[in-house]
Amino acid sequence: RIVHVNGEYFPEDQARVSVFDRGFLFADAVYEVTSVLDGKLIDFPGHAARLARSLAELDMDMPVTEEEILSIHREMVTRNDITDGLVYLQVTRGAVDRDFLFPEDAQPTIVLFTQAKPGLADSPAARTGLKVVTLPDRRWGRRDIKTVQLLYPSMAKTEAKRQGADDAWLVEDGHVTEGTSNNAYIVRNGTIVTRQLGEEILHGITRRAVLAFAREAQMKVEERPFTVEEARSAEEAFVTSASAFVMPVVEIDGRPVGDGQPGPVARRLREIYLEESRKAAI
Ligand code: PMP
Repeated sequence: RIVHVNGEYFPEDQARVSVFDRGFLFADAVYEVTSVLDGKLIDFPGHAARLARSLAELDMDMPVTEEEILSIHREMVTRNDITDGLVYLQVTRGAVDRDFLFPEDAQPTIVLFTQAKPGLADSPAARTGLKVVTLPDRRWGRRDIKTVQLLYPSMAKTEAKRQGADDAWLVEDGHVTEGTSNNAYIVRNGTIVTRQLGEEILHGITRRAVLAFAREAQMKVEERPFTVEEARSAEEAFVTSASAFVMPVVEIDGRPVGDGQPGPVARRLREIYLEESRKAAI
């Protein structure tokens, strides 16, 4: 694979990042993952806008302009011959002598790599649905900033697998916040329910698009916290993320959701999302 580091392209085994990089030592870094379908970027403007926001919240500078970031993404897709897959981008505060205090003069590090995912949009999981288990949300309090502090979500996903599930839904004060790497939704009395934006969840780029499509299609949407009990007795459940699009959830804590099959709302939203976002891809 060809990777990108600070303005240059390298074969992956020749790329170098400093041992003193604050991304490595402090998880002082933010990231974005953008899907590629048919060689085109899905919702790039959304990801670029969120990147700018994450950096601003952490007092970090945009290392290059949005236009340059777009052209680097395109170059990565071309050089790695990606038809369907992902582009991962990470910006760290940079490499300086280790100190908790934010440095004044660090040069940010920017790294990109790609992952080829043939058939990304028609994964078998979309037809069978996911099994999730609920686990306590033990992440930090600023989940709206897309940092690379992914240890707890990684532990939770591993624990979910150990319990025979595909993923975990994280729970705080009896309410579901989100999945380990996706936003969580249920359908009750025909209404789509998903937690409102705030510091407790990541502001999903897919979430924003999917809710807009749902409203355009006259579906009812409520943005509020929902309990684990509400989720367990919901008609439907699903998750959204840039890499999984809309993915039905068919089991929560070992019990089927509805009839245990992907539901009509999730299936329809997946279809609309894929169709519309392919049209808008750049
Ligand atoms: N929540 C969390 C915790 C995530 O890691 C992700 C994926 N990065 C999402 C939600 C979904 O966000 P998006 O739709 O922008 O991929």
